[in-house]
Amino acid sequence: MRDENRKVSTLEKKARDWLIERGVTIDDMAELVHYLQSKYHPDLTMEDCRFNVHQVLKKREVQNAIITGIQLDVLAEKNNLEEPLQSTIAADEGLYGVDEIIAFSIVNVYGSIGFTNYGYIDKQKPGILQKLNDKSSGQCHTFLDDIVGAIAAAASSRLAHSAVGDEY
Ligand code: MG
Repeated sequence: MRDENRKVSTLEKKARDWLIERGVTIDDMAELVHYLQSKYHPDLTMEDCRFNVHQVLKKREVQNAIITGIQLDVLAEKNNLEEPLQSTIAADEGLYGVDEIIAFSIVNVYGSIGFTNYGYIDKQKPGILQKLNDKSSGQCHTFLDDIVGAIAAAASSRLAHSAVGDEY
């Protein structure tokens, strides 16, 4: 991070720690940003991508989405939710849709271009998104895959806006 002396809130620390604990690194998300944006910014570096991911992770809305989604994934993995929610989340049922709504609260932070990026990356599932969607792992990532895609989409939007001088 470029501002290493910044005070990190308990909420932000928890959100960042939980991403790592659930197998998602800053570089995993930065690679998704690179995947989304390199065709528009030929000189785009991984450092630029990492920087924008860090900026997105500083937002309270994003931190709240992360801890809420991961908490539900973990409870489903431990079989600790009540029915019918337990089966719905454990099976990652397509018609459930609340995982995507939580992801939208992240995408929303940087305006409508984020939605296009989110939709695209959710269909393509490159890199870490493919790993999170591998049902054979025994882990439940019903919320996390959407959250990670949304963080990448939001970071891409931020990058696109900052490239034309917008302040975020
Ligand atoms: Mg999902």
